[in-house]
Formats: sequence, structure tokens, C-alpha cells
Amino acid sequence: MNSDNGQKFAIAIDGPAGAGKSTIARAVAKELGYIYVDTGAMYRAMALYLLRNGMQYDTAQSDPAAFESRAALLCRDADISIRYQDNEQIVLLAGENVNPYIRTGEVSAMASASSALSCIRERMVEIQKNLALQENVVMDGRDIGTVVLPNAQVKVFLTAGVKERARRRYLEDLEKYNREVSKAQETGAGVSLKKPDLEKIEEDIRIRDERDMNRQNSPLRQADDAVLVDSSDMSVDQVMETILNLVCVKKKRPQVITAKTAGFCFGVRNAIDTVYKQAEAKENGPINTFGPIIHNEIVVEDLRKKGVGVINTVEEIDAQEGGTIIIRSHGVSKALYERALGSRARVIDTTCTFVKRIHEIVQRESLAGKHIIIIGNHGHAEVEGTMGWAEGPVTVIESKDEALAFDAPKDVPLCVVAQTTFNERKFQELVATLKSRDYNCSVENTICNATHERQTEAGKIASLADVMIVIGSRSSSNTAKLYDICSEVCDRTVFLTGAEEPDLNLTGAEKIIGITAGASTPKNIIKEVQNHVRRTEF
Ligand code: C5P
Repeated sequence: MNSDNGQKFAIAIDGPAGAGKSTIARAVAKELGYIYVDTGAMYRAMALYLLRNGMQYDTAQSDPAAFESRAALLCRDADISIRYQDNEQIVLLAGENVNPYIRTGEVSAMASASSALSCIRERMVEIQKNLALQENVVMDGRDIGTVVLPNAQVKVFLTAGVKERARRRYLEDLEKYNREVSKAQETGAGVSLKKPDLEKIEEDIRIRDERDMNRQNSPLRQADDAVLVDSSDMSVDQVMETILNLVCVKKKRPQVITAKTAGFCFGVRNAIDTVYKQAEAKENGPINTFGPIIHNEIVVEDLRKKGVGVINTVEEIDAQEGGTIIIRSHGVSKALYERALGSRARVIDTTCTFVKRIHEIVQRESLAGKHIIIIGNHGHAEVEGTMGWAEGPVTVIESKDEALAFDAPKDVPLCVVAQTTFNERKFQELVATLKSRDYNCSVENTICNATHERQTEAGKIASLADVMIVIGSRSSSNTAKLYDICSEVCDRTVFLTGAEEPDLNLTGAEKIIGITAGASTPKNIIKEVQNHVRRTEF
């Protein structure tokens, strides 16, 4: 895609070490079909060349003049180029792929010291400028927005707190180290990597920051027209969306704002992970979930292909010969739970902890003589399961009419709980109705925090959006509630299941397209919708 004036489109991402520049730049480039240029890798290749030619990075401190003159002499003959293989940048030193050798501590220190020299910067900047003349690029480094591509259409200064950056590097290095150790255990080969040390990494990052920001040549600084993005508390997807939206603004396309709370909640994630782990472990006997693990046909079908079935009745529990029965995050009644425990199958219970808490309240309060009121949807699996923990009278109330029609002796106290995913505002309204009718109510607001946050965020985004998309299964009640909340503030609220080809009737006049998703919507479905929206032509 070319920019308006026929120039190539360039995105410059600068920032200190460990801010996540390369991860983000690579992902943004992939999304847009641009070339990703990792300029740090080029400085690293030069550093490797200097090291291989006998230079030592500490001479930069002890004898800076000698360091510079030797580097100036050597760098003239350094043959550094880059090429792309499967969208990955490969740095070549005299034709040799040096990617495997440029991430060591020694090369990092040498790159930081040698990149301060003008002789080296001049060579690198020239190669980088040329690349951006030929291709649409996402280029990351320290001086891209200020020196290499001062006319880049989008400039970002990506940073994060030093401790967070050190932590990310540490985890990255630890993963590499652990991989090498397990490979060594399998093959008997030696371990060449050192176990990473968090304090040492933090110290190295501080030294590099200091040197990069205070050098004379192209010091690391935010370009005047760059947007500052502090990724300390942001996920990769969130940073990516921020940058893609800057591109959208430049290209006069609508921005896509995805709710941070969209998709799997903690309880659903735990249940799904457990089922996939069981499917992989392939222990003896059948694996069945009691009811579909989540209200999402795509996930259930994927699991079916991996050998995980669904059973729905007590008879099927009794009939299962061994194997595993998994109780899903919605939970089940006490009777069903005990039936499963008494069966011939092993039982794995993934009932969400928030749902379990409701079961405990219901059992305790009904044993104390209270009439249990569950504010929730009739027939919903979680509500049905919760009813089954009451040891006395229990009533489900879903609407104001039902709250007004509710009839029970006034001298029996009520204990009111909520389905975890019920609409917060509606819950308060129904509680108020019951109280106004002189019932003696003790109220436990058991709507889970994740639901509350998801609903609040969805409402906020919908109020800003020209079009609001709510993604989830038709049978997911929490998604239906999100749809209701968004429709109240955004006329163009659209429900998508993710399986259909969405027709959003976009005209090109929209400025903001919001996206949220129910607790049972997988990330890949959300991503597909995001991609579809970003790629829609007007
Ligand atoms: O980004 P990365 O850590 O791979 O960069 C290695 C070193 O190269 C940095 O510490 C920095 O000193 C230098 N560098 C630079 N200018 C760039 C990219 C990297 O000076 N554009």
C-alpha cells in the first residue's frame, strides 16, 4: 500500500532495549504485509564482525580513541546485508547468516559501544534508508524517527519501565535456556547458554539505556512528532492495535478499538486448558465433558476432532466405562456432581471458583432456612446447576414482571444471589423490586468481577463507536447481555458468531469500530473479525 504522495509507507518504532519493539514491529509488519527491518540486528552483526576481528568492547571505555580508530578501519570492509526468508529478516555478514550469533551478552555490549561511533552509524543509516525507498517498512531501532526516516508517516516511541523490560528479557532468555537444557537432556549435547540472571539483565539494560541516550551521535530520543506508547501494562495485542490505529488515522480509515476484556475469562480459560491437556495426555478410556465445555460450537468441534466428546445425561454418566468426565466451568447440581463421583470414570471438576462460591452460599443459606432467589436466566446451565445446591425452596427470577409476581410467605427470609454473568444494572433493579415488596432479603451480589468489567468496558466503547461488534455464540447468554448493553448506546451494534462472513455495511465514513466478545469467544475468532474489519475496502 503506498502513501498518498506515492512514497512508500514507513512506520518508525524507536525505544530503549527490551521495550518489545521487535515483537511489535514484526507483528505489525506481518499484519500490513510490510517488510520488517530490525536495525538493531544490523548493529549487532557489525559488532560481531568487530569482535571476530579481535576488538573488545571494554576498550571503548579504557581507550576510546584507539577503539574508534580501529573500528573505523575495520568497518569499511564489513560486508553487511539483509535478506528475507519466510518473512524473517536474516542478517548476512559476508554472505554468512549470523542470526544465531548476534544475541549474546558480549555482542549486545559491543553493539551498544560501537553503534555510538559515527563511522558505523553512517554505513548502517545508508543501508536502512535505501530499504525504505524500495519497500513499505516497519523499522525499529533507536534513531529511526529522528535520523533514518524523518519523514515516516507513523512514528512511535515505545517504552516500558526498566524493571518490566528486564523481566521480559529475563523470561525470553529463560525460555531459550530451558529449551537448550531439555534438548541437551534428550541428546546428551552440552549446554552453551548461561542461566539468565535478572539483576544482571537489569543492570545491563540500565547501562545500555544510559549509553544510547547520552551518546553524541544520534542519541536515543523521542522524535517531536512521535507518539509515546508505554507498554508496561499493555499486552502485545494492545500495543499492536494502538500502532495499527495510528496507521488507520493516516490512511483515513476507521480505527478499531477492541475491548481489553473481550474473550475468555479466567474460569473459561482454565476449563478449556484443562480439557486440551487431557486430550493431549491421551490417558486410557473416553474423555467426555458434561455438556459442551463452552457455548462455542467451533471450540467444541475442534475438541471433538481431538477425541473429546460431550455427554448430557445422567444415564450417559452411569454408562461411561472408565475414562474421564470433565465438569465444565458452569458447574453442575450437587446430585449430578455426586453421581459423577460415584461413576466408574475419573472426574475432573473445572467449575469456576466464582460459581463454586455461589454453590456454597446457596447450600449454607438454604440450610439456615432461607428461600433462595437466583437472579439469572431460566434454563441456563449455571443457573440450573446452582439451583441443585439449594436444600430448600429456590426460585429463579429473570425479569421485573417475575419479581413483581413472586409470591412467598413474608416471614421466610430470602437470600438473593446472581448468575455470575448477569447484567449488573438489571440485577440491582430486580433486587430493588423485591425489597420494595417488603421481603426480608439478604443480598449477595455474585456477579463476577470479570463480567462486571467486561460489561462496563463494552458500554464505554459502544458509546464512542460508529459500529459496535459483539462476538459470541448465539447460545451464550453473557454475549447476549453484552449485545443488549451495547445496543442501548450504539444503534449500529452487530452480533457476530465468528462463523459467518460479516457484512457490516461500512460506508467509509465511520471513525471508530468497537469490538467486544463474550467469555466463551476464543481469541482467534476475535482476531479474524479484527482482520476482516481492517481489511474491508470501501
Ligand atoms: O535493538 P537491539 O537491542 O537489538 O540493538 C542493539 C544495539 O544496537 C543497541 O543497544 C543500540 O545501541 C544499537 N542500535 C542503535 N541504533 C539503532 C538500533 C540499534 O544504535 N537504530
